[in-house]
Amino acid sequence: MPHPVRCPSGLAGTIRGLKVREERILADRKLAKSNSIVDELLRACWEETTDAGPYVFPDCKVDWDLVLQGDRFHSLLEIRALTYGPEYAFAVTCREDACRARIEWELDLRQLPTRGLSDESRAAFLSGNRFETRLPDAGKRVWFRLLTGADERKLPAIRKNAADRMLSAMLAFRVVEVEGVDERERRRFLEDVTMRDADFLVDEFDRVDCGVDTTIEIECQECFARQEVQLPFDQTFFMPGKGRTARRRDRSGSSPG
Ligand SMILES: [Zn+2]
Repeated sequence: MPHPVRCPSGLAGTIRGLKVREERILADRKLAKSNSIVDELLRACWEETTDAGPYVFPDCKVDWDLVLQGDRFHSLLEIRALTYGPEYAFAVTCREDACRARIEWELDLRQLPTRGLSDESRAAFLSGNRFETRLPDAGKRVWFRLLTGADERKLPAIRKNAADRMLSAMLAFRVVEVEGVDERERRRFLEDVTMRDADFLVDEFDRVDCGVDTTIEIECQECFARQEVQLPFDQTFFMPGKGRTARRRDRSGSSPG
């Protein structure tokens, strides 16, 4: 059954849950290498567009490369929830050195806080995905962009190549112009901004963006330490395949699909 979905930007349409044939996508190592699994899943499960939101899709088919990260992730969560139910169970290791217990956690994916694209952000996105702000210390105006599907595919490579200077790499990746600074000097300029300016800029990235907040607070059942973690998101997210999940689904009496 098609299921209506409305993304944070206003993009809306219908999706379906995963079918067995999508196993091929999840297991495809070539797709994994090119970070294209998410794109293939979105393409397979997004059925019809009822509102293109802020996007202009050439042939009325969603071009996931153009779609904001927040919309893509929201759609993925919906596909996941539609396939296996909204409950998501995972385990992480407690961060307390003296504890290191395995923390079992479960949450409802549809309860994660989601922020819509503001009118101001929609306008900036429509005028070429250019967002303006002013660095407090440097006193200069800078323009940056929100991340889209095309960018998302490049992120793992950036993370790998710049693991020890992620902040610098991310700023260079997202800042498109600095007032009075030549394009060739931009990277050096961004290396020279104060940490306070960098922190301000990252806050600005978040402030104008839309999407699902995936930072969650969990509590260790052993030592009761509270800790923030990023929602674990890998291939097991789409193939839980664990007895526990199956049992829970049986208990709730609902069948996927
Ligand atoms: Zn603990």
